[in-house]
Amino acid sequence: MAVPTPTDETRWRCTLCGNLTRFDVTRSSKVVEYVHLDLAGAPKVEEREVLDESIESVRCRWCNAVDQIELVDRPSAQV
Ligand SMILES: [Zn+2]
Repeated sequence: MAVPTPTDETRWRCTLCGNLTRFDVTRSSKVVEYVHLDLAGAPKVEEREVLDESIESVRCRWCNAVDQIELVDRPSAQV
C-alpha cells in the first residue's frame, strides 16, 4: 500500500487509532552533500541537495500499525 503524501491542506491520520502527530517515517533519498573537512580531517556537511526522495513506509507511534494512513484536512483548512 502506497503512503499518501500530505499537502499544504492535508495531514496524516492513523486509520486505526486516530493518531495525528507521531509517526516513524522510513524514507529513502538520494542526496548530494557538500562536505567540508577541517584541517584535522573532521567532516561537516554544509549543504545538502535532495535529488530524489520517497517515503517507503509510515508506522504509527501509538499503535504500531504500518501504512494504515489516510489523509485528512488540517484544522486551518476546515474554516
Ligand atoms: Zn495508530
